[in-house]
Amino acid sequence: MKDLQVAVLGAGTMGHGIAQVSAMAGHDVTIRDIERDLVDDGIASIEENLQGGVERDKVTEDEKAAALDRISGTTDLAGAVSDADLVVEAVPEDVDLKKQTFEDVEESSPADAVIASNTSSLPVTEIVSALDDPGRGIGLHFFNPVHIMQLVEVVVGEQTADETVAFATEFVEDVGKTAIEVRDTAGFASSRLGVALGVEAMRMVEEGVASPRDIDQSMELGYNHPMGPVELGDVVGLDVRLDILEHLREELGERFRPPQILRRKVRAGKLGKKTGEGFYVWEDGEIVGTSGDWGDDE
Ligand code: NAD
Repeated sequence: MKDLQVAVLGAGTMGHGIAQVSAMAGHDVTIRDIERDLVDDGIASIEENLQGGVERDKVTEDEKAAALDRISGTTDLAGAVSDADLVVEAVPEDVDLKKQTFEDVEESSPADAVIASNTSSLPVTEIVSALDDPGRGIGLHFFNPVHIMQLVEVVVGEQTADETVAFATEFVEDVGKTAIEVRDTAGFASSRLGVALGVEAMRMVEEGVASPRDIDQSMELGYNHPMGPVELGDVVGLDVRLDILEHLREELGERFRPPQILRRKVRAGKLGKKTGEGFYVWEDGEIVGTSGDWGDDE
């Protein structure tokens, strides 16, 4: 793939990571956020990540310097996208903001630029419908942290053109990731499967089939999952899990109905790792016990 002009909108958790892997692959990157400080913070995070890579012998000093050289930052949207081959937006997860962003990008970017959304849960078909030419809109769902996680879901909206899918897939492979192609449906592939496992694990805790620790070990030791589904729910946040389940239930049906045990925990403010208790008890980011109130008799 020839060296591209890539514009990344949003310099937060995902935006700076997408900018980093793009620059490491040899593309010129402009990163845009709404305030200069945010742009600078994003670029500083990239520098930190690359320095970490140098210390772990994953990146050479020269590669780090070359990648940083290819990255510039701005608060000017039109300037950021004016000569872009690819625009990836990683602005907050709000469908109206994303549609507005797509509309603004289309106004100022070349007519053949591909415009991608990093949404993790919104319908790509709806976001790209904001474009006059929706064929060039697509989802590129990177995972956090971007420089480490191997997967990118290429999410194909109803209107997405075949050339756009081919271009986006080639880009993903070019930045050293693995692309999977998913039709735009709720939860794409990864969240839908991950959440299906997580919800069943919670029901098993509720029914007293086994303790959270034993359920997690069934997947960690029996299936080589790096983390069991109950613990993962605690890490992601049980409030976040509940929201995703409500959404998937609405779109895909009752098999995603949130279990009562989850609702009770969220009502009680037991949201997992971030509040110190969920299905497990946490201290300083580590599990120190199992929450005593699991099971039917909570
Ligand atoms: P974040 O809050 O860390 O970063 C968002 C950035 O966008 C902020 O710096 C904000 O100032 C900026 N921003 C707001 N409006 C903007 C605009 N109009 N133009 C440019 N920048 C703007 O959020 P994040 O975690 O990086 O998430 C971004 C997107 O990526 C969301 O759609 C999210 O669902 C998705 N996503 C997040 C993760 C994750 O684990 N964090 C994983 C996959 C996908």
